[in-house]
Amino acid sequence: MHTPEGFTPSHALPAALPADTLAFAFRDAKVLVGGADDAPVVPRASELAGLGIGGDRHYLGELDGTGCVAIHLPAEAREPEGWRYAGLRSLFFRLPEPLLAIAARAFQVVEWDRTHRYCGRCGTPTRDKQGERAKECPACGYAAFPRVTPAMMVLVTRGRELLLARAPRFPPGMYSALAGFVEPGETIEDCIHREVREEVGIEVGAIRYFASQSWAFPHSLMIAYTAEYAGGELTPDETEIAEARWFAWDAVPDLPPSISISRRLIEATVARLAGEAARPC
Ligand SMILES: [Zn+2]
Repeated sequence: MHTPEGFTPSHALPAALPADTLAFAFRDAKVLVGGADDAPVVPRASELAGLGIGGDRHYLGELDGTGCVAIHLPAEAREPEGWRYAGLRSLFFRLPEPLLAIAARAFQVVEWDRTHRYCGRCGTPTRDKQGERAKECPACGYAAFPRVTPAMMVLVTRGRELLLARAPRFPPGMYSALAGFVEPGETIEDCIHREVREEVGIEVGAIRYFASQSWAFPHSLMIAYTAEYAGGELTPDETEIAEARWFAWDAVPDLPPSISISRRLIEATVARLAGEAARPC
């Protein structure tokens, strides 16, 4: 997910929210929506007020001139008739793409709001900081910003083969590129070398940037690369990787859903290898 076309981010909450403001209201990790199961609808601020539901508000910006606000509902907020609380993943392919991207953004802001009620340094209740998206401690001045965690994804090739792996949690038959979180002190390139070594025991080179994607589970920035095999024996680490194999470019297995950057990374690489295979030597 990324910043949608037509969206202008802002954190300055208007003094009065226009009635048509889109309200992304979360109770725990689920967002309030109306409409049919396969055509969910995001409530407007006026509808939410009419239902008597509210909580801490964080302004997100404007989508094509319409305000968008994230609302952190209390855990005991009721579920009004005709509305339901839906997990973000259940809205994939159902909520239109720009709204889904803003819902994912709202989810991360609410999650930050929910987990930074107290100062991590001295335990005093925090307050929202004026002028920026931050919580500050009135006692010691510590400031906490929404957390974004960088993670890398890498698709390793060897000639016209791709290295794909299965994590134990994957549905049967599904494979993906390797991925892992960046550790303190590492560059992303360091992380790629370490994770590939730890997860499958090989060395890689020729690392090239592909693209990045915001991923709201819970607050990752997935940064994707391709790399070329540079040596070593494939030996999957059996805790994180159930199986890792080289696949010919024209025989790839089941892949993650098209919303994920891993699918785009694999498809783009397959297309490149297919082009190379078609070219006369
Ligand atoms: Zn403090």
